[in-house]
Order: sequence, then structure tokens, then C-alpha cells
Amino acid sequence: MKDILSYNELVNREGFNVQRGMNYRPQNKRYSIFLMSVRENAPYNDGFDEKGEKLIYEGEDISRRENNNPKEVDQPFFTRQGLTNNGKFFKVAEDFKLKRRGKPELIKVYEKISNNVWSDKGLFNLTDVNYQFSKEEGRKVFKFILSPDTAKEDMTEEEIEEFEFSRRIPTEIKRVVWERDGGKCSYPDCGSTKDLHFDHIIPWSKGGSSKEAKNVQLLCGKHNLKKSDKII
Ligand SMILES: [Zn+2]
Repeated sequence: MKDILSYNELVNREGFNVQRGMNYRPQNKRYSIFLMSVRENAPYNDGFDEKGEKLIYEGEDISRRENNNPKEVDQPFFTRQGLTNNGKFFKVAEDFKLKRRGKPELIKVYEKISNNVWSDKGLFNLTDVNYQFSKEEGRKVFKFILSPDTAKEDMTEEEIEEFEFSRRIPTEIKRVVWERDGGKCSYPDCGSTKDLHFDHIIPWSKGGSSKEAKNVQLLCGKHNLKKSDKII
């Protein structure tokens, strides 16, 4: 599976122009889509919790059409247009918590690493939501709680391990590795810019860390495969 993609590739993968942060079941898909960005100047406070297991995704601000200072008012549940995305996802999270639905809503998450560089973080389950006053922000915000979806019938054990590894690399580390490797495969004399993956130098199963840039490198699909052959 391809880890890193340009915005156009993301659009081709999903089949529509993904513009908003939160997209409820677009194009009648079986999943919803969240775009996230955890760079320093990112507009929302998204990120993994301390254990790196749960993803906390902040809801949407009111649009500038409705209020000139979106960061100074509560994130809306309703607007004049009706239920917001916050409201829609709040409902499906509550339905799951209150057992009005058997399975949580599936959310595909894409993370922005750099300009026109996106990472596919795979599917998550929307298991919980909070809508409360945030001291940090001085207003009420939605916090959607997502856990990695572990059902991956079509993946081998090795692919799952690799995928989970990549999913846990903090965005900051991805950004550093992306810049250090110049957005190219770091295999000697390759330099390909196509089909790039974040690869661990010391495997995760052997104690390699995903929290240190020195243990992470960019590899193209071909050299990523070559490497896993060698391990077998
Ligand atoms: Zn390569």
C-alpha cells in the first residue's frame, strides 16, 4: 500500500475533490474521511495521545461566512444551514456509545506532512466524542476519539506490521525524514520519487523505534520489497 501521496493522487484515490477536513460518507462510500494536519502552524490541535494509540481529532470551526472570528466562538453543532459535520459525527459517535449501532463509524485519515505531501494513515474507528469547554482555547470544541481499525483481511501479517509501524510515526518525524531524504528513495543510487514509503531501518519487531528520525527512511516500493525479501 502506498504511504505517501500528492494531493492529486489523494483525489484520484478517493474519486472526488477532497476539500474539507471532515467528510461524512462522501460518494456513498462505506467510510468517512478526515484530513489532518499537525504541523506547528496547523489550524487545529489534532494528534495522537501520549501512548500513541488513540487519535484525537478536533471538530470544525464555524465558517467565516457566519462569523468573522471563527476561533473565538464555540465550534457549532448547528448553523442556519442545519446540522454541521461536527453534529453529524457527534451523532454517529453517540449512537455507537449508546449501542444504537453495532459497529463504529469507519474513518479514513489522511495526514498532511508538507506542501502537497500527504500520508494515508488508513482506517480508524470513531469510538468516542467530547464536546466541552477547552481552557486552552477559551471556547467549546469537539474532540473526536479514533482508534486504529485492526480488521485488515486483505493484508499479510508482515504488511500489517509495517502499516502499524508507519501509522505510529509522529508527523514531526515524518516531516524531518521527508526533508532529510529530499522526498526521494534513500536506497543507494536510486533516488526515485515514485511510490514512496516510510521504512524502519531496525524493524519494529526487533525493537526499532518509530519516534526517532534516524531509524526511519524513505524507500520506493521496489526497494521496500527488496528489503523485506532480505529479512525473510
Ligand atoms: Zn528505490
